[in-house]
This record gives sequence, structure tokens and C-alpha cells, in this order.
Amino acid sequence: MAIDPVCKMEVDEKSVTTTSEYKGQTYYFCCPNCKASFDKDPEQYLGQHEGHDHHGHGHH
Ligand SMILES: [Zn+2]
Repeated sequence: MAIDPVCKMEVDEKSVTTTSEYKGQTYYFCCPNCKASFDKDPEQYLGQHEGHDHHGHGHH
């Protein structure tokens, strides 16, 4: 599952149709409204990581 960065909802990347690419990373959205909000100001949604838990997923 991926997390919609706008509303923090879980979205299934296999079935989701609303996606956006930003800085080489693909983001998934529950609805076009969330994508529109993200496209308007991506940094606003990416810069709001709460807490300090750096798990280091090594996903790349
Ligand atoms: Zn959403």
C-alpha cells in the first residue's frame, strides 16, 4: 500500500489511477482532488513528516 500524501489515506498502488510524479518519485492519490492539491504545492505535503523515526527503508 502507498500513502496518499495529501490526506494520509492508504491507497493500493495496483488499483489506483490517480498518480503524480515529483522529483522522480511517484505518488498515489485516493482522488483527483488530492492530486490537484499536491500538484499545486508538493513541498507542503512532503515536508510534513512528523516525529523523528528514520527507519531507513532503503527503498531505492
Ligand atoms: Zn486523498
